[in-house]
Amino acid sequence: MKTIDSINFSGKKAVIRVDFNVPLNEQFEVTDSTRIRAAIPTLKKILKDGGSIVLMSHLGRPKEGPTNKYSLKHIVNEVSRQLGTPVKFADDCISENAFAQSSALKAGEVLLLENLRFYKEEEKGNEEFAQKLARHGNVYVNDAFGTAHRSHASTAVMAKFFDAGSKCLGYVMAGEVESIDKVLNQSEKPFTAIIGGAKVSDKILIIEQLMNKANNILIGGGMAFTFVKAMGGQIGKSLCEDDRLQTAKELLDKAKQKGVNIYIPTDAIIADNFSNDANKKEVAIDQIPEGWMGLDIGSKSVKQFGEVIKSSKTILWNGPMGVFEMSSFENGTKQAAFDIVEATKSSAYSLIGGGDSVAAINKYNLAEKVSYVSTGGGALLEYIEQGSLPGVKAIEN
Ligand code: AMP
Repeated sequence: MKTIDSINFSGKKAVIRVDFNVPLNEQFEVTDSTRIRAAIPTLKKILKDGGSIVLMSHLGRPKEGPTNKYSLKHIVNEVSRQLGTPVKFADDCISENAFAQSSALKAGEVLLLENLRFYKEEEKGNEEFAQKLARHGNVYVNDAFGTAHRSHASTAVMAKFFDAGSKCLGYVMAGEVESIDKVLNQSEKPFTAIIGGAKVSDKILIIEQLMNKANNILIGGGMAFTFVKAMGGQIGKSLCEDDRLQTAKELLDKAKQKGVNIYIPTDAIIADNFSNDANKKEVAIDQIPEGWMGLDIGSKSVKQFGEVIKSSKTILWNGPMGVFEMSSFENGTKQAAFDIVEATKSSAYSLIGGGDSVAAINKYNLAEKVSYVSTGGGALLEYIEQGSLPGVKAIEN
């Protein structure tokens, strides 16, 4: 893996793809600066070496070119504050003015370019556009893990305009890649993957890939019910993808052939409607009465899953065990989070990734107590599915 530690930026101009896609309120103030803060060590290393920086990012999903709402000018002050250095702004990413500003940069100076997605060429991965972006610097750094699964101009295509010694991953990317590699390719056994969330269809490829790596796969959340139905259980009006029953059966068969233990919950907390104050009870997961739905795993499953988690040496968690957003149905997810923390204390390596499990770990203030919390949901899942990402490959080639 080629990281920024392998390059001395003295006298160099680094053009860096960062993920500054941060939430803004109605006054266009940054309401969560996590992503900006994450990039600071990369920026500081370059400035400390004596380099200058051109920052590129997208913000939101602008559909019709330049839109005030999606302008990166709104975040300039926050980036300056976090970095402790004033940041200049170019109101277009490829205008002559923008190139004049980047070429005038001196060592220690930082320029932020306007939202890349104001040009449709960015998401199309247009080569000419990528080549123009490449003109802004003489070293390319990719530190935007959240978009590393996209073959966009700034995330993958522009890397080809730099020679092998002049492109690298920043610290955010390097940390993510290292963590996934640790889990997938260098895992201490037993390796347990905890997969939850709403839909089986979203997770089929992941489960298939994990069968080649994991010893145990724990299945929770809404997707568990498709497996239960596939095995002949009664699931009432629980979430189910009837067109995936066959797939679920095949996954279970495949696991058996490969000697991977797949754990499907044995009991569930069921409710008579999808609300926090619905009537609820605990039943065997394959005997859910008509009109009721399973919204969390039951206490026996919590215990069984906990035992597996706590005896693991490597843990990957993606997706909640139930509707954890509602306090009545959060127990399975909450307990899984605490069990992962306990395993981590006993020297297991734990990687939490994918939007909702990250939201869960944050809800219980446990982010500091697990080994690594991934910043990119889609990117992490695609990395597991494909074994690499366009943004990472582009640096290696
Ligand atoms: P995903 O984005 O696929 O990881 O799904 C996460 C969502 O699945 C969360 O919003 C959960 O509330 C929801 N979820 C988890 N378990 C269930 C369930 N048993 N029934 C319905 N939704 C669920």
